[in-house]
Amino acid sequence: MYDVVVVGGGAVGLYLARKFAEKNSSVLLLEKKEKIGQKPCSGLVSSKIFEFINKGEDDFIENEFLKARIWLEGNFFDFNGKALLLNREKLDKYFFEKAKKAGVDIRLKKEVRKIEKYKINTPHYAGSSCALANVTMEGMTATEFSAALWDRYQIFTVAIEHPIVKGVRITPHLSNSIADIERLKSALKELAS
Ligand SMILES: Cc1cc2nc3c(=O)[nH]c(=O)nc-3n(C[C@H](O)[C@H](O)[C@H](O)COP(=O)(O)OP(=O)(O)OC[C@H]3O[C@@H](n4cnc5c(N)ncnc54)[C@H](O)[C@@H]3O)c2cc1C
Repeated sequence: MYDVVVVGGGAVGLYLARKFAEKNSSVLLLEKKEKIGQKPCSGLVSSKIFEFINKGEDDFIENEFLKARIWLEGNFFDFNGKALLLNREKLDKYFFEKAKKAGVDIRLKKEVRKIEKYKINTPHYAGSSCALANVTMEGMTATEFSAALWDRYQIFTVAIEHPIVKGVRITPHLSNSIADIERLKSALKELAS
């Protein structure tokens, strides 16, 4: 279980993943390609790039301009001011190394194909993590979700419709068997389909 899952190891995904990790979140990043940094990109950026990279770590900047003419969706527009030309592959690799160093678990060749409609929220800390979860189902209110679990599968849950917390509270009983848990799993998959 991770606090945050980032899909896509481009510059933005890698940067955000690192920022979450630096705030002590456990972060998983999934990238479908085999390698980081193979992007079609001319590498032209403004000096705002310095908001995202550390001072003195800019050896991927290869040139500077005072004017640039950019062709975008059928039109030219002129950029006046300082523009920089960077090596995009090196930039992505820079963000990759930073993310790795911050503790992001980066997995390559992993494509996200489907995100389940249901979410299981449970605390991570040992004292509270036990078998207690707040479960939500996209497209249903907590009350509708709880009613569907009861009407269709005879699984009893408590719906929480609080301004801050919404979802159904699921707490398996000591007498529940593995088969009961499997039934809950099938019910969640069926309702999400
Ligand atoms: C020809 C060209 C020239 C360009 N020139 C410039 C330029 O000069 N200056 C500029 O600022 N911008 C330029 N751009 C735009 C720039 O490349 C993009 O804005 C930038 O790459 C976006 O970064 P990103 O991290 O958001 O997305 P990306 O770099 O596209 O990264 C997204 C990543 O997500 C991965 N991914 C996607 N779906 C999944 C999935 N389901 N599961 C797992 N992984 C997934 C992809 O493989 C990819 O690595 C150019 C673009 C093109 C096409």
